[in-house]
Amino acid sequence: MARASPAQDAAEARLPGDRLRWAGVPWLEAPRRQVSAARCEGRLPHAILVHGPLGGGQSALALWTAQLLLCETALDQPCGRCASCVLFLAGNHPDFHGVSIEEKASYIKVDQVRDLCATLAMTSYRGRAKVGLVEPADRMNINANNALLKTLEEPPEDTLLILVASRLDRLARTVVSRCQRIRVSQPTTREALAWLEEQEARDDWSGLLAMAAGAPLQALDLAASGAGELTRDMAAAIPPRRPTAFDPLALADTWSKDRPADRLAWLENWVSAQVREAATGSDAVNNNRDNSLPSAPAGLNIRAAFELLDRVREARSLQERSLNTLLLFEDLLVGFAEAFAGGIAVRPEIEG
Ligand SMILES: [Zn+2]
Repeated sequence: MARASPAQDAAEARLPGDRLRWAGVPWLEAPRRQVSAARCEGRLPHAILVHGPLGGGQSALALWTAQLLLCETALDQPCGRCASCVLFLAGNHPDFHGVSIEEKASYIKVDQVRDLCATLAMTSYRGRAKVGLVEPADRMNINANNALLKTLEEPPEDTLLILVASRLDRLARTVVSRCQRIRVSQPTTREALAWLEEQEARDDWSGLLAMAAGAPLQALDLAASGAGELTRDMAAAIPPRRPTAFDPLALADTWSKDRPADRLAWLENWVSAQVREAATGSDAVNNNRDNSLPSAPAGLNIRAAFELLDRVREARSLQERSLNTLLLFEDLLVGFAEAFAGGIAVRPEIEG
């Protein structure tokens, strides 16, 4: 079996047992207690929304909650041994129904949600609870949101619907308001680094954690996917002292073919660091300065850095929606070249 990727969306068919290994991380202890207390006291609602930054472990918490509900002997945590747990861990529980983005699709489709709702309306196979999981729930279109709303308004008996999302603003408000929210908070940088160091001794965890926007499981994922090497490669491509050596079109070609999403994450992290440094004075953030990141080119002023940050964020959002990655990088890197040379041109519109 392939190594479990801790942070990714639930799009790939990985066994719940594999993904559940992250449910025991220390920063999930509080939300785990919250869920099990609600269950013990019989006040678990019919729908919960597990949310927090991507890569913080909400996926593992959602699966843990599903297993807890289905377990036949659980008190405050799933037993892992009863018939239900065995079926669940093997990915075969007949009363557990997960919906995620299908291969080659960008969104969860309305038909998937309708099928899920129809299945949840039927009688439980094992005569106990039924659980539906929608992940990532923030990648449903408006019709899928509406389809889900009907089930949220008239929930079937003994059914728990679990939504997992990192962006609440991409869910219909009417859906959010009908779920009990469980927030997964990120650990502090110090806690996250200590935990990562326990997983594997590396000297670039702080750079990887910054690139993962502080989410430890995402950092672990980045390390496994060779992002440490990527960081060195990116740093070499942006030589701070010789911005004229920066060839945007050649780089766009290379980057669009090789880990484009990771490169955009790296760029956002790097430009954010430039903005912070420029805004707070060059030495104010030195305690947190990640030495694996290059300094800004001489021509980059604060206004240009803010403009670049907007561009990178927009590019990340477009890339998620599978727009032409080469064009996207060309637009972005031409903008970088202009900024490094000391001026920003009027930004062109990207054709969708
Ligand atoms: Zn069990």
